[in-house]
Amino acid sequence: MVAETADILARLVGFPTISAASNLSLLDYVEEEVTRFGARVRRFPNAEGDKANLLVSVGPDEPGGIVLSGHTDVVPTDGQIWTGNPFELRRQNDRLIGRGATDMKGFLACCLAALPTISAQGLRRPVHFAFSYDEEVGCTGVGPMAEWIGSSALAPKFAVIGEPSSMEFVSAHKGGLIGWATVKGKPGHSSQPDRYVNAVMVASQLVAFIETLRVGMRDGPFFEGLDPPYSTIQVNQIAGGSHGNIVAETCRFFWEMRIIPGQSPDAVFDTIKRYAHDVLEPAMHRVDPGTGIMFEVQASIPALAPNDDTDLERDILALLGKSQTLRVPYGSEAGIFQQAGIPSMIIGPGDIADAHQPDESIGVLELSDCVEFLTRLTRTYC
Ligand SMILES: [Zn+2]
Repeated sequence: MVAETADILARLVGFPTISAASNLSLLDYVEEEVTRFGARVRRFPNAEGDKANLLVSVGPDEPGGIVLSGHTDVVPTDGQIWTGNPFELRRQNDRLIGRGATDMKGFLACCLAALPTISAQGLRRPVHFAFSYDEEVGCTGVGPMAEWIGSSALAPKFAVIGEPSSMEFVSAHKGGLIGWATVKGKPGHSSQPDRYVNAVMVASQLVAFIETLRVGMRDGPFFEGLDPPYSTIQVNQIAGGSHGNIVAETCRFFWEMRIIPGQSPDAVFDTIKRYAHDVLEPAMHRVDPGTGIMFEVQASIPALAPNDDTDLERDILALLGKSQTLRVPYGSEAGIFQQAGIPSMIIGPGDIADAHQPDESIGVLELSDCVEFLTRLTRTYC
């Protein structure tokens, strides 16, 4: 079992599917593997046609099956020092090293390694693999597939997203909304600030407003178990102006918010936009109506909230041999499946601390644990 999973992982790692690259040859390989076991496949291509989500279904065409989901893209290795080729899996003692070993081709390999056993199990309900793209650039690829599954007759009972959780049951994480704000001012000689609009000064007012929101968030609402247990917002990148004595024409900054389940990122965003448009812009427009403040959302990742189904939670904890669920500080595609109406959770092999690192690696035992878990899970529910 371990050897097979490692062989499959080696094939998957061999496709250098960093988010900027196509994932189609990896999907071709997966299709070839799964159709040997009678699986049905459906692709959800992107607009350019160079990437796709892949939905694989085995077992009867019935509602109430389960979804096992993971992303096919990996983060780049630029600027990292690796001790070997990142896209050639190698073994060192009991660990397998390669880009994506943990995040998260390891889980994909477990799904494929478990498939022969799963398909021979006499399934009463289907098992679906939902393999996505562009997760690492803000979970922007999986949406159409998750929505299609959620609104189709498949009506799965739940989805397991196999992000590295050291095989713990993760039931909640924050949502994220990130993007740019651009202030367009009016340039001129800095001896006459009132005749012009200083984009750096306006941007600094907006950043200061975001800081007051941040401080207010520390007073709650709270979601216990998350660290910190309240929402956060900040600006970590800013650029503006051209010279020390020219009133700045433009200033651009990147904002990010991490919002607890139950709180609305859009409501926070609306508060910021209202301040920009109702408080800051009128003064700018009095000098020049061509000035203004523009916002651009780069990514929106919904939060994951614990599912209402406490029986399901208890039963899956029992299958895992764990006593409690965890809450984590990172985002995932799980909230997108949940938003599509599918109860969702994160359970996957590997330690999140290994993700995105040089010489990223996963323990072979974690892989075999995961394959066994997937076999038990599908035997129980399908
Ligand atoms: Zn991941």
